[in-house]
Amino acid sequence: MPPTHGREATLLPSDAAMGQQQQPQSTAFMCPYCEAVLTNPGAAQCDSCLRPLPQRGTPVLRVHFPTGELKISVGQHLVLGRDAGQSPVAQTFTQYDNVSRRHSTVWLDPSGTAWVRDEGSTNGTFVNGERLPRGVEAPLRDGDQLRLAADVTGTVQLN
Ligand SMILES: [Zn+2]
Repeated sequence: MPPTHGREATLLPSDAAMGQQQQPQSTAFMCPYCEAVLTNPGAAQCDSCLRPLPQRGTPVLRVHFPTGELKISVGQHLVLGRDAGQSPVAQTFTQYDNVSRRHSTVWLDPSGTAWVRDEGSTNGTFVNGERLPRGVEAPLRDGDQLRLAADVTGTVQLN
C-alpha cells in the first residue's frame, strides 16, 4: 500500500522537528552586570567582572523570631518545636511554654515556594493571624507573619 507508506514518511520528519523545538533555550546564565556567560550559575561572584552575583539559583527561606533566625534551604524540612529530640532548633523556642514539643514544619520546595504545616500543635500555627487547620500545607510569602501559639511571631524572608 504505497499511500500509507507515503503518509508515514511525511509524519516522521515533522515529529523530529518538534522534538528539536522543545529543547530548552534558557540553560545559560549570564552575569547581570557584564553579561558574561557563567559556567557555574551558583558561584558567589562573576568570573569576569568579579562582582557578587544574586543567588537566584539557590532560594533561601529565613524566619526571624525574637529569639533567633531560622534558615531553611531548598529540600530541607525544619520542624519547629520545644523538644530537642523533635526539633533541631528547639533552643529558639524553649522559653515559650505554649509552643508544642513538635509544633509545625516549614520547608522550601525546589520551585522556591515556602510552606508551613501545623503538626497538631496544642495552641496553633498562624499565618498573618489566620490559624491553619492541622496538617494543611499553607504557602509562605516574603513578609508574612508566622506565629506559633499566642505570641511567638516570626517574620518570613524569602529571596
Ligand atoms: Zn560579570
